[in-house]
Amino acid sequence: MRICRFRRSEQRERARYGVIEGETVFPFREGGPFASRDVDRSQGIPLSEVQLLAPCQPSKIIGVGRNYRDHALEMGHDVPSEPLIFLKPPSAVIGPHEAIRLPALSERVDYEGELVAVIGRRASQISEEESALDYVLGYTCGNDVTARDLQKRDVQFTRAKGFDTFAPLGPVIVTDLDPHNLTIETRVNGQVKQHARTNQLAFSIEALLRYISQVMTLLPGDVIYTGTPAGVGPLKPGDVVDVEIEGIGVLRNHVT
Ligand code: MG
Repeated sequence: MRICRFRRSEQRERARYGVIEGETVFPFREGGPFASRDVDRSQGIPLSEVQLLAPCQPSKIIGVGRNYRDHALEMGHDVPSEPLIFLKPPSAVIGPHEAIRLPALSERVDYEGELVAVIGRRASQISEEESALDYVLGYTCGNDVTARDLQKRDVQFTRAKGFDTFAPLGPVIVTDLDPHNLTIETRVNGQVKQHARTNQLAFSIEALLRYISQVMTLLPGDVIYTGTPAGVGPLKPGDVVDVEIEGIGVLRNHVT
């Protein structure tokens, strides 16, 4: 399933969850994809008539630092001995084709293309015996936009990772996708900046889920940004940044 959140472009209606099949969106019945997979097939809407929104509304966004060795090395570190996690605020979320706004407080804002796992059901203290991926609804593309200068200046990542618009997500959540060996690529103005495979993750998605769920209860719609490969770099006004992941699609945002 390719799950989206959408609103009809011409109407001021509320956002709804839907499933994209070909060029048609079928809305979910009451409760959305976290309650059931029950889709209303009598009400197809042409994809051209909808605006795609961020595909979920997380109560929290967990980021993972230095989870690809080559990126850790480019930042002057090795991979940590256990996952390095941080939070981004839900207010930072934007959807496809929304603008990443460069804040006046920073002189260096970087893109970080990342595979994002979307939680499907409540997860607390996932045990070794459980299949951790059973808690995942699906996967989407994310851009862990980061004010690099502030990240270096501050002890905490809160400010560097937390500005409004610093958590682009989308375009869709893909279920039934094996996340372990997907191509991930970031392009700025069409030029390839990051290109890697998710089999290079230092800590697997299962390991991250177990680790994070020992700390905090993960709720449906929460997201985990699983870390970025090498090749991070700055954004400037007017740039168009694409994060493309095999089997999911392209998350495109422009920069203002
Ligand atoms: Mg990151």
